[in-house]
Amino acid sequence: MINIPKGTKDVLPSQSYKWQYVENTAREVARVFNLKEIRTPVFEHTELFTRGVGDTTDVVNKEMYTFEDKGGRSVTLKPEGTAGAARLFIENGLASSPMPVKTYYITPCFRYERPQAGRLREFHQFGMEIFGAESFTQDAEVILAASSFLEKLGVRTRLEINSIGCKTCRAEYNAALRKYFAPHLDGMCPACRARFGKNPLRMLDCKEEACKKIAAAAPAITDYLCADCADHFAGLKNLLTAQGVEYTVNPRIVRGLDYYTKTVFEFVSDAIGAQGTVCGGGRYDGLLEELGASPLPAIGFAAGIERLLLLMENTSAAFPEDGKPLIYVAGLDDACRAEAFKTVCFLRSKGIAAETDHTGRSVKAQFKYADKLGVKFVAVIGGDELASGEIKIKNMSSGEQTAVKCADIYAYLTKE
Ligand code: ATP
Ligand code: MG
Repeated sequence: MINIPKGTKDVLPSQSYKWQYVENTAREVARVFNLKEIRTPVFEHTELFTRGVGDTTDVVNKEMYTFEDKGGRSVTLKPEGTAGAARLFIENGLASSPMPVKTYYITPCFRYERPQAGRLREFHQFGMEIFGAESFTQDAEVILAASSFLEKLGVRTRLEINSIGCKTCRAEYNAALRKYFAPHLDGMCPACRARFGKNPLRMLDCKEEACKKIAAAAPAITDYLCADCADHFAGLKNLLTAQGVEYTVNPRIVRGLDYYTKTVFEFVSDAIGAQGTVCGGGRYDGLLEELGASPLPAIGFAAGIERLLLLMENTSAAFPEDGKPLIYVAGLDDACRAEAFKTVCFLRSKGIAAETDHTGRSVKAQFKYADKLGVKFVAVIGGDELASGEIKIKNMSSGEQTAVKCADIYAYLTKE
């Protein structure tokens, strides 16, 4: 017996309707916010992520599925969607389109992490990436889209926002952070000691308990924002308030990518354990330039679908019912089964979900099976029905039986 790889999950036939519900909701939100879907490959050149995500991040340092292909190239399974979306945007010349270019994706992601509740090695994200709009109104729109998505799914989360500034204010803040962390370095993990030199902001995002404790009293970025960044943040907060979106400012949020600027945000739940962030995002005005293109502001978010489903299940959120066939057509003997098969083919060609037997069940067993399927109607074809060209259709909820001419079945089934 070959088992599923650690940290991955099957979606069973009885569960896939939940995924479809979340995905359909995502597509519906994307539609009303006027975003277009993009699809990028599951693997990319490794360099896209080392540059795009940043080599001081956990994702790049520890979590990437990187391998050499048979041509000796280093490729990596996508750990997130933003870098690929930015590459797609640059490579396809979308910078010459009218701005902003508003995109979304639903994609598997791969990270070599220690599997636990809400943390998998293959997981899925619904994400949005919007290129070419600098205004805080764009930030508000993206947050509203994420919020509307979560609201439609009936999950309750709290929104935490922060601004991590731009190059100008970050330099001053980094200096303040170094000053603060310098005397504590001995008590921090090796990764944080490396971050200290390269990108001290990342030290706020460390998952090690000792580091978290030290980071808790670090200076807050919000006290170091330049006038432009402070105005941007104030504008966003006003707009969120005007739209009735509740939020708190959490100056500890820095997010996973290196090239985030200004706004960052997370939607967090307490109902799914330690991995409580179901959706995270932010502005990344430096990414396109970092990838070799002309500078262009951009902003996005990604929501983890497994964590969302976990949250929905833990909080008994309402899923719509799974689809069921409308009718089961049972046949008494071989000749009748052949007629049942024909009837089902006809109904399906008309767009009606219909089922019949392929396992040689008795009529009684076919009824039982039809009941399990949850069909609304069962039709039985026996010798009499073959002779008369009329079949009896039973309404499974009322028990009522109606004789219907074969030619009229479709009309009968669609009359209500
Ligand atoms: P965390 O702090 O939980 O590790 P992250 O900052 O690494 O999150 P992002 O890169 O922002 O996460 O990814 C966006 C979303 O994708 C997360 O909020 C989460 O819902 C989901 N996600 C990230 N990593 C995993 C994983 N290993 N398994 C399942 N979902 C994940
Ligand atoms: Mg992570």
